[in-house]
Amino acid sequence: MKTVNHWIGGKSVPGASDVSGASGASGVSGAPDRYGEVTDPATGEVTTRVAFAAAGDVDAAVAAAKDAYATWRTSSLAQRTAILFRYRALLDARRDDIAALITAEHGKVHSDALGEVARGLEIVELACGIANSLKGELSTQVSSRVDVSSIRQPLGVVAGITPFNFPAMVPMWMFPVAIACGNTFVLKPSEKDPSAPVLLAQLASEAGLPDGVFNVLHGDREAVDALLVHPDVAAVSFVGSTPIARHIHAEATAAGKRVQALGGAKNHMLVLPDADLDAAADAAVSAAYGSAGERCMAISAVVAVGSAGDELVSRIVERAKKITIGPGGDPASEMGPLITRAHRDKVAGYVRSAAGQGAEVVLDGTDFTVQGYEQGHWIGLSLLDRVSTDSDAYRDEIFGPVLCVLRTETYEEAMALINASPYGNGTAIFTRDGGAARRFQLEVEAGMVGVNVPIPVPVGYHSFGGWKDSLFGDHHVYGNDGVRFYTRGKVVTTRWPDPADTPAGVDLGFPS
Ligand code: NAD
Repeated sequence: MKTVNHWIGGKSVPGASDVSGASGASGVSGAPDRYGEVTDPATGEVTTRVAFAAAGDVDAAVAAAKDAYATWRTSSLAQRTAILFRYRALLDARRDDIAALITAEHGKVHSDALGEVARGLEIVELACGIANSLKGELSTQVSSRVDVSSIRQPLGVVAGITPFNFPAMVPMWMFPVAIACGNTFVLKPSEKDPSAPVLLAQLASEAGLPDGVFNVLHGDREAVDALLVHPDVAAVSFVGSTPIARHIHAEATAAGKRVQALGGAKNHMLVLPDADLDAAADAAVSAAYGSAGERCMAISAVVAVGSAGDELVSRIVERAKKITIGPGGDPASEMGPLITRAHRDKVAGYVRSAAGQGAEVVLDGTDFTVQGYEQGHWIGLSLLDRVSTDSDAYRDEIFGPVLCVLRTETYEEAMALINASPYGNGTAIFTRDGGAARRFQLEVEAGMVGVNVPIPVPVGYHSFGGWKDSLFGDHHVYGNDGVRFYTRGKVVTTRWPDPADTPAGVDLGFPS
């Protein structure tokens, strides 16, 4: 069985015992005391074990990052960007290898995994141009011979804690920008699919990133809790479910850290009767069932207004029935399995309870399996119509291939329904009416809005983030917000007297 170790100080490290030189509680020198199991979701087999960090590992990773910060923060922009350009080229050349690791541990199909790598690469490209984002401001002659400049400086050691559903892209939302700004980074990726993040770190070393600038620490709550209160961690970026995002934000801000914590979602797609219903049905099926619904920007609720409903549901069914489900490595597969058996069973539970809670179960995917892969975490596509806002299927983030359709008579009712959701990550409107689309953009309470675009994930040079229970903190990730999050401002007021000046003398008045 493969073992995935931490990546600390530019090398693979099994655990605290190895770092400190003493043996862990297991009594075996060089072996960590706890491991997690990584499963191939298509076969249900445990393929890998992953070292789980204890407090000593957290200390070692943060110490490596702190040591590296001393020199990395003073490295020139030219040095940093040269490394990032080399890194970009290596990632580009290894897209397939990264995607294969994602598919083997997450289960998503290879083409989808490649898409994730491509979106992550966008942020590396953004970081290659960091010099432009870090330019300060200068005002000359604000007073006699006085100039004022504003500059931004790195924070120090920053931590990133990331979810299972994008094991490469979500870390890449964070560390390229953090590192380009002069910080050093400790990543705690999901323990469910830890291999791709380690390859990202190895490639960064290959590109010439100094040891300790980017470290990967595996584990569970024990590692996270130690990072949240570590005195040498200046800031924490988190992406995951809402309850954990809330916890991370509360704990880390209480410990005096800067925090951005992105949470879960229930993304609504509003369809007006004048929409192109074929385009809307294509979009709904792609956005609801892509990556088996395990995307924070998945459309999980369609709100059909007036006469749009019946026709839209029938076109969604027509398309959903044609989706091929199978192992992510098979090029014929369009949708893979879910991450774990427990999650698969939980998702099936929502579909099974839906009829009792008033929904019409149009498609029921709960009894699906793939021949030859019977132990995989399979579930088919489910479609629930006339779903009530009180039902569990609507209220909870299911995070599986289950699409809920809700019906309203008017745009206003639909808007009130969407804005009553505690989540506010992404949303979309499908219409041919520019005025309605414009009104929707201004009225809807969500951080990312699509107009005839179902998954409006912003490009790298805009920032990604939701509202309400989908984000705790003041900064979105990447783009300008990412740069602001990973830097702090400083204003310098300078007077260089002219050699001909006579000294101003003592003046106890307030400088004005
Ligand atoms: P999760 O919240 O279970 O885990 C996220 C991270 O937190 C992992 O690294 C995990 O090890 C750690 N963690 C889990 N429990 C913890 C605890 N009690 N204390 C401290 N750390 C803990 O999320 P997940 O299941 O890995 O990912 C799916 C969730 O992430 C969904 O809710 C999805 O919407 C969300 N997500 C949000 C975005 C976004 O941009 N808003 C993007 C991707 C995923």
